[in-house]
Amino acid sequence: MKDNLQKFMFEHAGVRGEFVELPNTWQAILSHQDYPQPVKIILGELLAAASLLSANLKFNGSMIMQIHGDGPIKLLVVECDSELRLRATAKLAANAVIADDATLSELVHSRGQGRFVITLDPNDKMPGQQAYQGIVPLDGDSIATIIENYMMRSEQLDTKLWLAADDQVARGLLLQKLPKIGGTESSVEDETEAWNRAVIMGSTLKQEELLSTDIETLMTRLFWEETLRVFEPLHPQFHCNCTREKVGDMLKMLGHEEVSTAIAELNQLDINCDFCGKHYSFDQVDCAQLFTATTLTEGIINPSQSSH
Ligand SMILES: [Zn+2]
Repeated sequence: MKDNLQKFMFEHAGVRGEFVELPNTWQAILSHQDYPQPVKIILGELLAAASLLSANLKFNGSMIMQIHGDGPIKLLVVECDSELRLRATAKLAANAVIADDATLSELVHSRGQGRFVITLDPNDKMPGQQAYQGIVPLDGDSIATIIENYMMRSEQLDTKLWLAADDQVARGLLLQKLPKIGGTESSVEDETEAWNRAVIMGSTLKQEELLSTDIETLMTRLFWEETLRVFEPLHPQFHCNCTREKVGDMLKMLGHEEVSTAIAELNQLDINCDFCGKHYSFDQVDCAQLFTATTLTEGIINPSQSSH
């Protein structure tokens, strides 16, 4: 069974929606990472949110959501590209103690220093072009509320999100009120009423129900009174774009001295990708090459591994 993202629209009303279910992507992410339950839930919800928002972007590139926490969670990262290929990871503070009922604020914003950044990184940047970065205030007690507030403030888009994750699956529902386009017959009052009705229907959705029910059933159960236009389902999937070259770049950023000291001590550097668990090892010769090559890629491209 594939992961699914199902877009739909209310006929005769400016409301669009998306359901997403990510059992395979989520299992691939969890297969080499073990997190305390509250961290798992937040990362899974962020994953569902990233896929829902990315599916509406009209650009060729990646959306990166990063929360730099000031509490037990140091970092949450979710990346989703325009083909809905996803990867995600979390980093906890050393010796982090995380209670089963820890809240989002306690985990990432306990001293008011947490930072949530959404980056839109186009694939084919013009020379000098920067990725777009938006700062998302951590002003809510759930990922859904925080993103809803952000969408309202930065995009002036009424958005509602329902997100859930457990050990098996990450799922979500997004509803969005489309900006009024001139020339349509419906009045502003009609549009507002349709939006309010959609939100009320969405709000009947319980977390457990979202986690345990397939998209088709949910859509019928929630919106049976509406005429929906349903699009071809999309299929998000797990994908990590790590390469030996990028790991080499990272080592190079650490600097010659630090790498030399580490290699003298350990004989070889073993690095696992945080996102997919793939193992990379650099021996003394590899490390020496990193710092002597005239260009970066010259020194580290290994022909057998450069095709990622
Ligand atoms: Zn990787």
